[in-house]
Amino acid sequence: MTSNGGIVIVGGGLAAARTAEQLRRSEYSGPVTIVSDEDHLPYDRPPLSKEVLRSETDDVTLKPREFYDENDITVLLGKAAQSVDTAAQTIRLSDGSDLGYNELIIATGLVPKRIPSFPDLAGIHVLRSFDESLALRAHAATARKAVVIGAGFIGCEVAASLRKMGVDVVLVEPQPAPLASVLGEQIGDLVTRLHRAEGVDVRCGVGVSEVGGSDRVEKVVLADGSELDADLVVVGIGSRPATEWLEGSGIELDNGVVCDEHGRASAPHVWAIGDVASWRHTQGHQVRVEHWSNVADQARALIPTLMGKEASAAVSVPYFWSDQYDVKIQCLGEPEADDTVHVVEDDGRKFLAYYERDGIVVGVVGGGMPGKVMKTRNKIATGAPISDVLG
Ligand SMILES: Cc1cc2nc3c(=O)[nH]c(=O)nc-3n(C[C@H](O)[C@H](O)[C@H](O)COP(=O)(O)OP(=O)(O)OC[C@H]3O[C@@H](n4cnc5c(N)ncnc54)[C@H](O)[C@@H]3O)c2cc1C
Repeated sequence: MTSNGGIVIVGGGLAAARTAEQLRRSEYSGPVTIVSDEDHLPYDRPPLSKEVLRSETDDVTLKPREFYDENDITVLLGKAAQSVDTAAQTIRLSDGSDLGYNELIIATGLVPKRIPSFPDLAGIHVLRSFDESLALRAHAATARKAVVIGAGFIGCEVAASLRKMGVDVVLVEPQPAPLASVLGEQIGDLVTRLHRAEGVDVRCGVGVSEVGGSDRVEKVVLADGSELDADLVVVGIGSRPATEWLEGSGIELDNGVVCDEHGRASAPHVWAIGDVASWRHTQGHQVRVEHWSNVADQARALIPTLMGKEASAAVSVPYFWSDQYDVKIQCLGEPEADDTVHVVEDDGRKFLAYYERDGIVVGVVGGGMPGKVMKTRNKIATGAPISDVLG
């Protein structure tokens, strides 16, 4: 090893905090440093589109400052990693200093996509960080008419929170239904129904062509020519991996940092975890997962491997959730939009659906059905025939 910098984790989110915590739990006693470009200690993002936006909490910090002090974890805030030299095992920080590492763990997450053709008007928001949630919340407090562009999970959750705050919402999605690219059109239609029941004007199958206003946003024009009054616009069209700083480093990048099934990147002593990391799936293809519980699954595979111990590959049954109004949408397994979907329960608001591929149950999605979703875990893990769950 050429450096005594120990383990340097770049990124200040869930993956960074969990990795540092797990290293100490695994009795790693060398130096651990977290480098974050944010001014906040690592915090939890799921509440940003839910409780924080609705002013129900501001307390999202994952671990208090004392935790890092007691565990001898150095946290450098307000410093971005700008490049890495994998031969010298150093990273260059935004203050011009170099930081050496024995092992580098990349945990830089995602950057929300914007629409480049939009003019720079006040009132147009994206949502990834705590500060962005506070800015959106402040604006929503006085807004009357919002247009949410993109009905993925974040767009749907923001639409639900804005409705609860009394704002009129139009939710615009070019696909045939919300969440259709992830969960398919059938479940997307049930999500449309949920939002319409709460008073959201859901417009699917149509994109946005422009926004207008003098210095603040005033209207949104859709591709079908319709004009929507808007004093607030939220762009929720997805995110891209935060890997610009790695370009030219020689570390293989392809929709994130390309890793093996234990999080090892293509350069020696470099690893990646969380939303930024594209891990090799046990079936051989690369997968990048943008969900909260994936971080803990990956940490269980990465940390023992990094410490030279035996570790199994990440997870067999992925999980995520999304809260929209009083309905918790939960997904277990790896459903795909073109699977055969069996909706087995539907009371007009809550629902349960199994996903079938080649006769096997590959996933379950429930809206307000937590017990029934979780009961399917074993069937999915063992690749049970669909007839086992359809009864
Ligand atoms: C609004 C919102 C709601 C969500 N809700 C849910 C939910 O309901 N259910 C669910 O399963 N998942 C949800 N997620 C996803 C979940 O929060 C993510 O999977 C999780 O945050 C991933 O953690 P991460 O550490 O990989 O990335 P992040 O949390 O994005 O952390 C990355 C950190 O790295 C920092 N960084 C980036 N570049 C640099 C650099 N060059 N140098 C230093 N620091 C850098 C960033 O500023 C950030 O602090 C939500 C995400 C968002 C944004």
